[in-house]
Amino acid sequence: MDVPDTNEIMTKFSSLYYDLYRDEIQRRNSELLKWFSFFGLGVAGAGVLTRALLRGGNLLPPFVVLFVLFVLLIVLRKRIVRLFGGNNTLALYVVEAPTWVIGIMLGSVLDPNNRAITFFMFVALLPLFILDRPKRVLSYTFFWLACFSVASWAVKPMDLFLKDMSFTVMYAVASMVTTGLLLIERLDSVKLFVESEEHARTSETTGLKNHYAFECDMRAYLNTPIIIGVSRIDDLQFFVDSFGHSIESSILSLWGASMTDHFGTAHSYSHSTRELLVMLPHMNPRKFEKLAGGFLLDFERRVGAELHIRPACSIGYVFGTPATEEELKQMINHADVLLSEAQRAGRSQIRGAEFDPNHSQHEELDALLGGNLQSDSIDAITGLPNMHAFRMRARSLVDTYVTDSQNLPYIIYYDIENFKEYNEDYGFQKGDDLLRSIAQIICDSFPRRLVARFGDDHFVVMCYRTELESGLAQTLNLAFDLHGRTSMPLKAGVYALRDRNENIGLACDCARAACNSIKSRYDVFWREYDEELRAVEERRRHIIGHVDDAVDQGWLRVYYQPIVYATTGEVVECEALVRWIDPVYGFMPPDAFISELEKAHLIHKIDLWVARRVCADYHDRVVAGLTPLPVSINLSRLDFILCDIDEEINKLTEQYEVPSSDLHIEVTESALSEDFTQLLNVTSKLRAQGYEIWLDDFGSDYSSLTTLKDFPCDVIKLDLMFLRASDGNKRARLIIKQIIEMANALGARSLVEGVEEQHHLDFLASIGCDYCQGYLISKPEPIETLVEQGLIPS
Ligand code: C2E
Ligand code: CA
Ligand code: CA
Repeated sequence: MDVPDTNEIMTKFSSLYYDLYRDEIQRRNSELLKWFSFFGLGVAGAGVLTRALLRGGNLLPPFVVLFVLFVLLIVLRKRIVRLFGGNNTLALYVVEAPTWVIGIMLGSVLDPNNRAITFFMFVALLPLFILDRPKRVLSYTFFWLACFSVASWAVKPMDLFLKDMSFTVMYAVASMVTTGLLLIERLDSVKLFVESEEHARTSETTGLKNHYAFECDMRAYLNTPIIIGVSRIDDLQFFVDSFGHSIESSILSLWGASMTDHFGTAHSYSHSTRELLVMLPHMNPRKFEKLAGGFLLDFERRVGAELHIRPACSIGYVFGTPATEEELKQMINHADVLLSEAQRAGRSQIRGAEFDPNHSQHEELDALLGGNLQSDSIDAITGLPNMHAFRMRARSLVDTYVTDSQNLPYIIYYDIENFKEYNEDYGFQKGDDLLRSIAQIICDSFPRRLVARFGDDHFVVMCYRTELESGLAQTLNLAFDLHGRTSMPLKAGVYALRDRNENIGLACDCARAACNSIKSRYDVFWREYDEELRAVEERRRHIIGHVDDAVDQGWLRVYYQPIVYATTGEVVECEALVRWIDPVYGFMPPDAFISELEKAHLIHKIDLWVARRVCADYHDRVVAGLTPLPVSINLSRLDFILCDIDEEINKLTEQYEVPSSDLHIEVTESALSEDFTQLLNVTSKLRAQGYEIWLDDFGSDYSSLTTLKDFPCDVIKLDLMFLRASDGNKRARLIIKQIIEMANALGARSLVEGVEEQHHLDFLASIGCDYCQGYLISKPEPIETLVEQGLIPS
């Protein structure tokens, strides 16, 4: 049997529990106050009855007084509680006092010739009505016993007084044991209750308060100026898919811990499984942004240090004073929309705005499908909601109408192919008419559904599974009949929401990705976002989200492909081609990431890194006493816009002491089609400083010959496809010959890419081509491999 530890008992007697669980104890005492009044009323009532029947003489009036007292207590209970400022424990002590006084009078002054047995029966249960530290309850009881002893001594004959005293001592001992033990037991149950309550209010994954806790706390946030922030992890799904579900809980718990460290536990919540919410009363936006910035950085650092991966999270926030729970929820939605914008902008972003209740009243459901939109939420041409309004409304529709995961809505993203050309051919007036007709067709095909125009020729619908296919068929058919031009079909991408908390903006992106994936496919008109697209999209997000890592953490390599004289086969220089060795996706050729990074306007980071690496390699060879080889690097047309590329290159060649004549810059022919003047200015500047400009992929685009005359360059690189086409084709060979002659005439040298066979090389040498490059000579390889193979001298 367990022997109770005296230490443990003493701890329980101390004020420890009381201080820890004060709120719950106060709550229980308020309950007890209620029960005490009814219990007292019953006892006093019984007293009145029995005394009246037994004609209890002078004992009847005190019972009547008690009865009235308890009736008053029941009526005035709430006021009494208020009077004590919510301190229910103190109220209980005070409210009990008259009962003790009357009890003592009953046992002494009013009945001096009898033993005080009625008194003891009467007050026997009183101490148990107070839940407080055992020491205090017992002191209170002993105080009244002392009062009784004094009164008894004053009015009673000695023998009766002594008998009363023996009862008093017995009562005191019994009270000490029962009251003490019962109180400890009761305080223990308070502790268990509070702990389980806390457990029910805590999210297991993040350790923060959960949604249930939020619902309980919500009212406390009303009518105070407050900042509401919502945070999500940018690439969580990607990491889960790559490393399995166990990584998710590790990431989430680090996320929760970081949130607690920066915002405290009291106001941080796990809003949904993958969304954190922070509610900060009386905080100013500037301070919040500072805190939030610290949090975002800390999260990245923590996860990096513990899990060796680099997910980032972003925050959207609003500030304002919500008057109702409804408004508070609108604020959260608003923050959510801002968060989506932040996530779209890049890694670890913060976006905030002031909450405007008038604006969000328009988000109410009644107004959802009809007009009643604010002018800045309407698309002027079609009268449909715009993108921002769509996102807000779709969010509230899902929140209000979608209660389970069975009937999750679909997002359809429409795009009119070649609409731009139509506009150019027929004018804006006709273009706008077409947009209006398409808008009408979509609205007719999806009656009572949320339809919006996302700018340009893009429309979005939110609908349900049952109406999806018929609605799609109707729109696509009617649209086809409408303009009767097979050259500009309407295309649609479909995305099914996977859970009701899913971000609407990202869902629209997925639908758009599905739509884009069937662009220029003449036989497919709509596509649902599937696993294949998901994988592509995840890879895209991974690439965009990790450019800095690739640059900083050595995920990039430069491979060199030798370029030879066509006549002698001697290696004259190399082309630098970048490779990305990813911790998740492994080896990636440039085609896998260049165009994505161009779309995201991040390509210059890679190109500058390559330029630096190339200069450093050149310098290393010089230091090692080897003859350095000239190198050509590839620049994207965006490099000329995204940074001062000429200055950057000059800095690098100065730093690594590379003569400008040994660094050649390849610009693709397709780069010339846009921002031509800017490109021409910068390349001319570079040429004047001694760098050679090489025109890459010549012949792969339409504009070839026309641009050539306006774009001075040193070398023209003929695209691979010329050689591909030349095998057994006399005309193709003739064209190659003509281009080479033309290049010469323009004062440029010529290079043909994709030389795979000996007869290619022989042919090119015979027609006066200057340089060749291709697998016949070597594939692109790391510099050491080329040295080992003797292709470049060691
Ligand atoms: P590009 O500049 O036209 O580079 C030549 C591509 O053709 C290289 O592909 C090379 O491996 C490949 N190639 C060379 N000889 C042969 C051959 O005989 N047969 C065949 N089938 N292919 C051959 P890679 O390295 O995959 O690069 C693809 C493209 O990526 C490049 O085309 C270039 O446009 C771009 N790129 C590569 N590195 C960079 C860079 O650092 N910055 C930028 N902006 N673009 C780059
Ligand atoms: Ca190239
Ligand atoms: Ca090329």
